[in-house]
Amino acid sequence: MSHRTRKVAVVGGTRGIGAAITSTFVRGGHDVVLTGRDVPDATVEKFRAEAARAEQTVEGISLDSAAPDSAGRLAEAVSSLLGGLDVLCLNAGVFPNKPLAELTYTDIREVFAVNVESQMLAVSACLPLLRESAAGRVVLTSSITGPVTGFPGWSHYAASKAAQLGFMRTAALELAPFGITVNAVAPGNVATEGLDGMGDAYLAQMTATIPLGRLARPQEIADAVEFLASERASFVTGQVIIVDGGQTLPESPEAVLPSRATASG
Ligand code: NAP
Repeated sequence: MSHRTRKVAVVGGTRGIGAAITSTFVRGGHDVVLTGRDVPDATVEKFRAEAARAEQTVEGISLDSAAPDSAGRLAEAVSSLLGGLDVLCLNAGVFPNKPLAELTYTDIREVFAVNVESQMLAVSACLPLLRESAAGRVVLTSSITGPVTGFPGWSHYAASKAAQLGFMRTAALELAPFGITVNAVAPGNVATEGLDGMGDAYLAQMTATIPLGRLARPQEIADAVEFLASERASFVTGQVIIVDGGQTLPESPEAVLPSRATASG
């Protein structure tokens, strides 16, 4: 990250990967607004305790990204709490598992509303703020699931994550004239509360497919987000950084060699 203090919004910044992203920017001395459907005061206080500067702003707002007015409310809150916006991290995502044979219209709508539509609307609503920035940055949290791989039960999720990248490429072109970059990180399997719900069998199955022999730590995804948000990534736009421990590389299960690493890293 540049040493310049920047104004950062982390949508879906309360836990998991989002908490690591929030924490990274807070520790870097940047002014941060984080969102989630419900942001407890204790969560905000925990992040405030990591602040690098005395006068640093760290605020949380409860905002359901799936609500039709959430993008407008996000832009208003960011404007009033930070007085501008340099970095917009769109991390909120849901990944319910359901076989294609049982999938309903509502299932698809719920996933797309959070994972794709809210991100498109957030970028649009925050554009006036980002245009005022000397170096505006949008960083999306995508996934290997959809853009690169597939997994049974996640057809709607995979489609949403691939759709994000289609959006990203055109947004990058439209916003380039304003010096705003739009990029994505695509995590493999990351040890978060959200993934814990998939159960031990799923986690063991996934670990066996990862050449580096463990799931990612949330901080390893946040580090890639921080890079894309930084001055060091000033000439990178419309791109995806895959952070998956090599999970998308093997041609067959035998190509994954025994590893000494553990899931806890
Ligand atoms: P998580 O632990 O379930 O956390 C999800 C975050 O998004 C929370 O901060 C949550 O806050 C927020 N969120 C969810 N729905 C929201 C909504 N409707 N409105 C506002 N905020 C909402 O998930 P995670 O594993 O960290 O995943 C984060 C992102 O990484 C997602 O986009 C996911 O698709 C992607 N990803 C994860 C993995 C993985 O292995 N974990 C792999 C690839 C990609 P609240 O609960 O307060 O709403």
